[in-house]
Amino acid sequence: MWKHRIHKNIGLSNPLYHYLLSISLRKSQLLNQLRQETAKRRDGMMQIAPDQGQLMALLIQLMGAKKGIEIGTFTGYSTLWMGQIVACDVNEKTTTIARRYWQEAGVTDKIDMRIAPASETLQQLISSGQNGSFDFAFIDADKPNYPTYYEQCLQLLRSGGLIIIDNVLWGGKVAQPMVQDHNTRAIRAFNEFLYQDKRVDISTLGIADGITLVRKR
Ligand code: CA
Repeated sequence: MWKHRIHKNIGLSNPLYHYLLSISLRKSQLLNQLRQETAKRRDGMMQIAPDQGQLMALLIQLMGAKKGIEIGTFTGYSTLWMGQIVACDVNEKTTTIARRYWQEAGVTDKIDMRIAPASETLQQLISSGQNGSFDFAFIDADKPNYPTYYEQCLQLLRSGGLIIIDNVLWGGKVAQPMVQDHNTRAIRAFNEFLYQDKRVDISTLGIADGITLVRKR
């Protein structure tokens, strides 16, 4: 294990984070509006950070990606950053908000929304012969099912494709041995699994709640 002397993150105080956003985040009005509407909800903290959205959009642009999958759409904020996508979620209510904003953004025809357990949707894509045809996937749903989603996405992705895994640092709980709840253990186990997985190249970033970038070899 790495010990003490490791060069660590600068650590973002609130003022520094706001500064970062002020010199980096290029907001569209609609993204902003959706972000604010979602933030008012009790579960509003589930939406991804704006700087994370912009990073994901940039990565997708860099790849020239045409076809993606999102697992866990919620109110569609992350989706709006990503473009051409199969969006998976089980919640009719939150995805109704999502659809309203996609409509306003004029991207409805780019987003193939599937209301069903994501593993079923992914299995349908696999069964319909779409293996190896996707450029990227964003996994941000129920944590204990991450391994299932990951294996399915890996099949659906082309070689060189990108999977972005959300919440890999889980509010810091992953590094607190006393915390042993179901979700924390699931994320720890998945992180350890990914670390060993020779089918992919990885990089974990301390942005937002932690994301791991996974490139299929
Ligand atoms: Ca998340």
